[in-house]
Amino acid sequence: MGTTIVGARVFDGERSLGVATVVVDDAGLVAGVEPGERAPVDGEVDGRGATLLPGLIDAHVHLRGAGNLGQDLRHGVTTVLDMFSAPPQFTAMLRRRAATRDDEADVRSSGLMAGAVDGWPAVMLPPDPNGWRMPGLSGPDDAERFVADREREGSDYLKVFVENAADVTRPTLTPETVAAVCAASRRRGLLTVAHAPTRWAAATARAAGVDVLTHLPLDGPLDDPAGLVVVPTLTMMAALTTTESVRELLADPRLTTRLPQPVVAGLEAGDRGGLPTSSAVGASYAHAEENLARLLDAGATVVAGTDANDVPGRPAAVLHGASMHLELELLVRAGMTPTDALAAATSRAADVFSLHDRGRIALGRRADLLLVDGDPTTDVTATRDLRTVWRLGVPHAESDPVRAVDVDEVGTPRRR
Ligand SMILES: [Zn+2]
Repeated sequence: MGTTIVGARVFDGERSLGVATVVVDDAGLVAGVEPGERAPVDGEVDGRGATLLPGLIDAHVHLRGAGNLGQDLRHGVTTVLDMFSAPPQFTAMLRRRAATRDDEADVRSSGLMAGAVDGWPAVMLPPDPNGWRMPGLSGPDDAERFVADREREGSDYLKVFVENAADVTRPTLTPETVAAVCAASRRRGLLTVAHAPTRWAAATARAAGVDVLTHLPLDGPLDDPAGLVVVPTLTMMAALTTTESVRELLADPRLTTRLPQPVVAGLEAGDRGGLPTSSAVGASYAHAEENLARLLDAGATVVAGTDANDVPGRPAAVLHGASMHLELELLVRAGMTPTDALAAATSRAADVFSLHDRGRIALGRRADLLLVDGDPTTDVTATRDLRTVWRLGVPHAESDPVRAVDVDEVGTPRRR
């Protein structure tokens, strides 16, 4: 059965359309957008006083368990772009679940990240009970094989770890190897996304031909911001520079009510899931904000993403779902207009990652939708006042915080 939402202001992913009626068909696709106000009739959704916008796309997460995706959807994040999870069977399992369940966010994934043998990010992984070891690259000649293997596993894009050997305690890829990974990916039509949290990394990634940079330098200004495509992950940049960053989340009940209670209690007790603050010389959040301003001045492409990485049911400095609302606020504080920040989290994310079926409220697109009280195009924190989330036209009841869920040990949401 279709859905008709009447009386809401509509932000279509790029701009405000004013009040309009949005019709969703049986297949969960947008079948009509009719400008104008009218009173709802029986069976229609009364959107008066609210704003309808496309479901949010978090363009930088890490999947740690199935519970991540339910938590995303409960917060209005209808699609997540995983930027490294392991092992491949785990990622494939979550991808299959997410494709069919209407109570979880949909997933695209890089699968394994390209990194050096015995370097980051392989060293972050706990030992695998089945003896699986993450493959690393020892030089440019390994790039072709690495990318071919990821393509076979179903990676939607390639993630590559770019750090200066002087900044990390483990082996890291040479600039030549990063360039070879980019070339091999491009031959297969896959985008490359670089972990690039320093000036050196951003410059090296750009020179290597990386398509999308993620994080922003904490150590000083980006040298050449024009033409870059960047997912800043300001929430993570803040978390890396101060242990105080979770206070903003804890101070807003609109963000804490949809999280498992033990997670909130853990955060309140100071547990950030073990995230250290950056020890790099001169690392400062002010540099990240300044770099965002430089990107905006240069007309660069900015896409919203958080670097959420919580193990379901456990605290972390950057949490699935809730953090996306913090990210929007940080983007605005650093100089974006609310409308631009919302576009970065919807239509622009869809454009950059070729998700042509979503990211906009337009005919034929997926009805991944958010109905929120107020007007987030003037106060971006209004995205936290969720009335309803639809995924492919299916309303998600647990956007009602009263029906909060517990999460069991393997991260599966469990109804009370
Ligand atoms: Zn990340």
